[in-house]
Amino acid sequence: MEKAFAEWPQSLWAHNSLQWNFHSLENSESFDVVIVGAGYSGLWSAHHLLNLNPSLSVAILDARQPGFGASGRNGGWCSAFSPMSLEAIAAQSDRLGAIDLQNALVESVDEIGVHIERSGIDCGWHKGGTLSFASSQLQLQRIEDNITMARNFGFDDSFMHYVTPDQAEARVRIRGSHGASYSPHCAALHPAQLVDGLVRQLLSRNVQFFGSTRVTGITPHRITANTSNGEVSVGAKWIVRATEGFTARMKQYRRDVAPLYSYMIATEPLSDTQWNEIGWTNRETVSDGRNLVIYVQRTADGRIAFGGRGAPYKFASQIGSSYDRNPKIHSLIENSMREMFPSVADVAVTHKWGGALGVHRDWFASANVDHKQHLATLGGYVGDGVAFSYVAAKQVAVSIAGARTDHRPLPIVNHTSPQWEPEPLRYVGINSILRLTERADETEKRLGRTNRFIYWLLGKLIP
Ligand SMILES: Cc1cc2nc3c(=O)[nH]c(=O)nc-3n(C[C@H](O)[C@H](O)[C@H](O)COP(=O)(O)OP(=O)(O)OC[C@H]3O[C@@H](n4cnc5c(N)ncnc54)[C@H](O)[C@@H]3O)c2cc1C
Repeated sequence: MEKAFAEWPQSLWAHNSLQWNFHSLENSESFDVVIVGAGYSGLWSAHHLLNLNPSLSVAILDARQPGFGASGRNGGWCSAFSPMSLEAIAAQSDRLGAIDLQNALVESVDEIGVHIERSGIDCGWHKGGTLSFASSQLQLQRIEDNITMARNFGFDDSFMHYVTPDQAEARVRIRGSHGASYSPHCAALHPAQLVDGLVRQLLSRNVQFFGSTRVTGITPHRITANTSNGEVSVGAKWIVRATEGFTARMKQYRRDVAPLYSYMIATEPLSDTQWNEIGWTNRETVSDGRNLVIYVQRTADGRIAFGGRGAPYKFASQIGSSYDRNPKIHSLIENSMREMFPSVADVAVTHKWGGALGVHRDWFASANVDHKQHLATLGGYVGDGVAFSYVAAKQVAVSIAGARTDHRPLPIVNHTSPQWEPEPLRYVGINSILRLTERADETEKRLGRTNRFIYWLLGKLIP
């Protein structure tokens, strides 16, 4: 019997994952490395650092508990795709840099899969690839342009290819498909169970976790935090800040990362008959070619988990649990789901939730290591952080450990994004981008054509 939505105030993933309860930092201690943030960025940073130097003493502090942030509540796409297009990466670095980063992301999906399998992390991992459907001729054009871009950078059919409407329907039956692109480089997983598995492993490697420890200040070799025991401080040879969408809460980083909310719903488990109507036997992750991103997975326990971006940005980068639900956006997402999958018309939605992801001013992720200050920061994955955090954390660990490598640093390494504008400009700017993107989709749906003026404006607002 499914519990009613009201009884599940948290995400779908919260009710079959662990509820960690690490105590807060008590008195001044000292570690080789202190990591702020127990999401994937922090956890993978510890993992890679210990692989390079198992004797390091590592502590991970979290304002709440591991997985409280986006890592415990995301759409569970472990994907080799990044928020930055290959052309945008090449423009920031060069063609080779873009190819290197894309290859690193592709490899990361397999490395995460191997790690999960070898270490027996039970998180519903299935690498079925990803389908991006076109539900109009314009979306089809966009999907073909993406494939052409990949080809121009030397990525062939095995990386991504076009599938006809019939071939797409043989995989997943959605309404009004004009075909799709398919790439094998994506897996579906239960995000919170991945967090749990990583925490367990790090505990067995003597990493110390502290919960309810809100870091308020970072200076070289010292962190100050508020805890239930009052203000405490901790010393460290190296500090890694892995706070992504929450970063702006720290005064000193107020304009570094803007939090954007993404929202999700999940259905009750579908019956075999309903699944037979939809197909989807290989659990490919599914999206489509609209401008405002949607992301869908068939969960290991036979539900549809459906997410969408585009919620308004909150003034002064506020985040908080009162924003975890957004009836308007949740209802838009639910409508999109029922439109896309007509056979779930009567299926109950049992969970609705949301969370904040982190965006830099230039929409570019980074993995930065300051060897003078002994401070590393990583994040800004714009909603693509499940695999990306693994790649960024590896770059951070290699740089901190001074490890020799034959590869040149990826373009995200020591990439400095400009700061966000002060308020109210930031509020107006980000919400204009979101509103214009929404308008672009509306125009395409209503008139079947693109609005060039909107794209011109978006080009001015997003560098
Ligand atoms: C609804 C939603 C769906 C998404 N879907 C996908 C998806 O399907 N695929 C994908 O690739 N990406 C997805 N993302 C993005 C992805 O989840 C994130 O990019 C990724 O989890 C970021 O990991 P992180 O460790 O950097 O940050 P988080 O997981 O946000 O972790 C940051 C941690 O830092 C802690 N913290 C913050 N401030 C402080 C402080 N001052 N002191 C101490 N601790 C602090 C927080 O409590 C938190 O636990 C989604 C995001 C959301 C919100």
